[in-house]
Amino acid sequence: RFREMLDYKSRWYGRDLIIAPQNYPSSQLCSDCGNRSSQTKDLSCRIYVCPECGLEIDRDYNASLNLLKLTM
Ligand SMILES: [Zn+2]
Repeated sequence: RFREMLDYKSRWYGRDLIIAPQNYPSSQLCSDCGNRSSQTKDLSCRIYVCPECGLEIDRDYNASLNLLKLTM
C-alpha cells in the first residue's frame, strides 16, 4: 500500500522533473537578466549579486529560478 503511494508520487513528480544539462551554470546565471557571473564559484558566498542589473538574491534561489526557466 505504502509502496503504491510512493510509486504514484514519484510518477506524479517525475512529470515535472527538471533534467538540466550537466554543465548548465544555474548558479552563475542571473535569473533576472541572464548575465553570467563567475563570482559565485565561491561557495561560501550565499548571495548572488549580479554586476549587470544589480540583482541581489539567495544563491540557491537564483539557481532554482534558472532551472525553472529551462522548463518553460
Ligand atoms: Zn542581472
